[in-house]
Amino acid sequence: MIQRTTASVEARSPARDPDHSVPAWQSLLATSITSPAELLQRLGLNDLALAQQARAGHLAFPVRVPEPWLSRIRPKDPDDPLLRQVLPLAAEGESHAGYVRDPLQESDATAAPGLIRKYRSRALLMVTGQCAINCRYCFRRHFPYADHRLSPAQRKHVIDTLKASPEINEVILSGGDPLAANDRLLAGWAQALATVPSLTRLRIHSRLPIVIPQRVDEALLAWIQECPLDVVMVVHVNHPREIDDNVREAMKRLRDAGVTLLNQSVILRGVNDNADVLEQLSEALFDAGVLPYYLHAFDPVAGAHHFDVSDDEARGLVRKLQARLAGYLVPRLVREVPERPGKTLLDVGMENPGTVEPVKR
Ligand SMILES: *Cc1c(COP(=O)(O)O)cnc(C)c1O
Ligand code: SF4
Repeated sequence: MIQRTTASVEARSPARDPDHSVPAWQSLLATSITSPAELLQRLGLNDLALAQQARAGHLAFPVRVPEPWLSRIRPKDPDDPLLRQVLPLAAEGESHAGYVRDPLQESDATAAPGLIRKYRSRALLMVTGQCAINCRYCFRRHFPYADHRLSPAQRKHVIDTLKASPEINEVILSGGDPLAANDRLLAGWAQALATVPSLTRLRIHSRLPIVIPQRVDEALLAWIQECPLDVVMVVHVNHPREIDDNVREAMKRLRDAGVTLLNQSVILRGVNDNADVLEQLSEALFDAGVLPYYLHAFDPVAGAHHFDVSDDEARGLVRKLQARLAGYLVPRLVREVPERPGKTLLDVGMENPGTVEPVKR
């Protein structure tokens, strides 16, 4: 079984560069823009103040922007919503009361090295600390892990811990971005997890198929299709312009491989704090075969104050979506609150009928 799987993964990897035998997505990852000056120059932005800010922020949390993401940014627009997610600003250096480095207190929930468990039926498995893109608003920006790769003994310990916890039926590959790990490692995890009798689902939380849609290559699809567990992928899109033809194609390939696709977004000032944008996002996701799942209320992460949208404002936006969209296109507005048994749903209430366009009869 193990040999057959390994062989088929090797045989079905046409996305490899013939000269270097590196998958195309890994080359795109390796050639990401990591210099703030280059990022601005490529976008035709020559503002000196912007360049100084970007350099200062970059020192605390480096810039990382792969080319396929860059290609979706509108040139010469410093306020572009895709640029805003990746461009360091001086505001990152400000400190604000209540903005902390680990708002979710994940450092307390480690069940085994690499395994984070807060909820009864599912656990997070951190397979790599790497990401394909450095999102300025991310709470993981303060996590010092360069690499989360586990030793064989630690991997066995994770599997033994799961076997001893039969109430866990779903493991969520997380990170960093789990799909930044190579397919050999991921296929190994998928096989090992499939030996845990209580597991029925493997979930993957990844932004990579959006950031670098070339990540969805034959080698990835091969181990997903071989995996006897049901595979759910939760991608991460914040703005409708992140979804281009390549992303739609990647989503289609995943769906054809039997993957259930969901999306999570974070509400972000200057990116998607607008009912029209959120409505277009839901429609664009559905068009790409992805259902909206969560809209995360903003967490007070140190350095990300400039993205803050208040809970009241977020509630108002979701109320508008409820009045405009099919119920299944309205994401759940949630927050993770330490010590709670699951995500906390923010009660958004109902839009005041007087503010909604009347239905013509
Ligand atoms: C969000 C999260 C999950 C998954 O929760 P769902 O509500 O099932 O999406 C699991 N574990 C941790 C630690 C989480 O933060
Ligand atoms: S890809 Fe996800 S984990 Fe990585 S920086 Fe962006 S939001 Fe954070």
